[in-house]
Amino acid sequence: MSVIYLNGEFVPEQEARVSVYDHGFLYGDGVFEGIRAYGGKVFRLEDHVSRLFDSARAIMLCVPMTQEEMCEAILETLRRNKLTDGYIRPIVTRGVGDLGLDPNKCCASSVVIISQKWAAMYGNLYDIGLTAVTVTVRRNSPAALPPNIKSLNYLNNILGKIEANIKGGNEAIFLDAEGTVSEGSGDNIFVIKNGKIYTPPTINNLRGITREAVVELAEERGYSVKEGDLGLFDLYTADEVFVTGTAAEVAPVTKIDGREIGNGTPGPITVELMKAFRDLTNTKGTPI
Ligand SMILES: *Cc1c(COP(=O)(O)O)cnc(C)c1O
Repeated sequence: MSVIYLNGEFVPEQEARVSVYDHGFLYGDGVFEGIRAYGGKVFRLEDHVSRLFDSARAIMLCVPMTQEEMCEAILETLRRNKLTDGYIRPIVTRGVGDLGLDPNKCCASSVVIISQKWAAMYGNLYDIGLTAVTVTVRRNSPAALPPNIKSLNYLNNILGKIEANIKGGNEAIFLDAEGTVSEGSGDNIFVIKNGKIYTPPTINNLRGITREAVVELAEERGYSVKEGDLGLFDLYTADEVFVTGTAAEVAPVTKIDGREIGNGTPGPITVELMKAFRDLTNTKGTPI
């Protein structure tokens, strides 16, 4: 049974309860992070906490602690659960209000940190690659809800996932309103063509920390990485495609909309970057 951080206290999982009047529950009014620890070290902890605070700032949500205190609360949650490897989910919600939307009626934000063991999300698919499908539901317009906010309002992503499930895909690929490639339901996307790596700019997708790490790793290895708009054509004619995210890590995509990508197996650059990412997460991080 796990120990949960709840508003400054550590409580057993069965006692970790928030009110049904919490606007995180009523309206998805809140923000979250997904973080991983590897071999007793948390990968890019400060970056994740900084993004959590940026997400909160973007929705004018007060986080009732400093970034340093949040980092420490995350580390302490891992210690209390004796976790050296695992997944961490900090959540900040608008807190308890009334049934109306008005956040001014909410008196105090709720802060929750959940941690657990969780192996890379796609299980045995890393060897064979994911089957992805583009979905008809479009990624939230930045003009409506900027995808850069890692908010609790994930219905857009869930609708894509539902559609991927129906179509028999392991992951959804979202386009934006213009038909430009955006991202997966919870991961960023990369395309490789003729030895060069491409990924969409982060206006229509979440600015992934794994994405950033993989860009650095690729550039260190001498690959050209370009941010640029991609269309369906670029996906279908790519030599390699992969997705990146804290939960997914680096995962090859070998089929999109029924078309084989490259020769239908994880490509050499993808495999090289998967290994580089594994080495990085095993060597660098904040000690627990
Ligand atoms: C969290 C998330 C990602 C990946 O971000 P990481 O920082 O690499 O975990 C990508 N897209 C969406 C929609 C996400 O929620």
